[in-house]
Amino acid sequence: MINVLFAAGSDRWAQYEAPLSDAFVRAGLDVRLMVKTDTPASIDYIVYAPNGPLSDFTPFTGLKAVLNLWAGVENVVGNPTLSVPLCRMVDPSLTDGMVEWVTGHVLRHHLGMDTHIHGQDGIWRAGTAPPLAKDRRVVVLGLGELGAACAQSLARVKFQVHGWSRSQKSIDGVMCYSGEGGLKAALCIADILVLLLPLTAETENILNREMLALLPQAAVILNPGRGALIEDEALLDALNDGGIAHATLDVFREEPLPPDHPYWAHPRVTVTPHIASETRVGSASQVIADNIRRGQAGLPFLHVVDRKAGY
Ligand code: NAP
Repeated sequence: MINVLFAAGSDRWAQYEAPLSDAFVRAGLDVRLMVKTDTPASIDYIVYAPNGPLSDFTPFTGLKAVLNLWAGVENVVGNPTLSVPLCRMVDPSLTDGMVEWVTGHVLRHHLGMDTHIHGQDGIWRAGTAPPLAKDRRVVVLGLGELGAACAQSLARVKFQVHGWSRSQKSIDGVMCYSGEGGLKAALCIADILVLLLPLTAETENILNREMLALLPQAAVILNPGRGALIEDEALLDALNDGGIAHATLDVFREEPLPPDHPYWAHPRVTVTPHIASETRVGSASQVIADNIRRGQAGLPFLHVVDRKAGY
């Protein structure tokens, strides 16, 4: 019998209890799934979410792995009481959602959709045909599970896609950069910039005043990564002086974004409430069951976080 503790919040328990149980059965696993325990030493695996009830892993002396329901791990990766492998969520449906959000919002700005959606005023705006995607440069910072999938989707629409990551990548249809020099080279050509980096000590404020200044005049920024990747004051200044044409922001230092935050009222900012993509219950349950099956079979876990790198 494998003991699995669901420590990802009571609201999610209602969503996950049945799909997780089904996935364990399908994976051939004999699991006792519970939402609380009086015998933490007997727990083999914890299904985890950073805003759940658990922050001290010390009593879980028999733990084999923690399976995060989120792709981002910045709130748990530095937990000093956690010494077993931490697996982040890589869910094909989460990836699909991000590809759709990024592709949709890139196309909104590329096609200048707002001009006509908000321009139903009797004025015939001739001469506003958009350029072709092949003449627009999109840069994706972060070429992991999500960034690489988004970059490939944009390349299929024929955008000129460039991407940047810590290690050098080779992705069909995407010009790949790495290193600090690579970041500057990529920013200099970004008509549309998409941030899909994790939040780590190295990436915090990566889009600071100096880096924002490298972007071409009237560039557009999409941030579905993490709020703290951007230096907010520098972005607001760049939006105010017209250097940046628009920022579509899904994630923020403080969430929910406070009602009086200047982003809400700014005419060049679109706020979306951290909905770019989410873990989907059915596919995520399968991913978790598969990882537990691997652990029980003595195979390496998938998607293990590099604690030193922070993601
Ligand atoms: P991932 O697979 O871990 O990919 C991260 C990418 O960032 C990798 O390409 C990595 O480079 C690169 N990277 C990390 N640190 C770097 C650095 N210092 N310099 C340059 N590149 C660096 O993560 P993912 O699954 O794609 O997710 C990315 C982020 O999206 C998550 O961490 C989370 O914050 C965010 N997210 C947001 C939502 C939403 O709804 N808004 C939903 C899910 C996820 P290497 O390839 O060389 O390792």
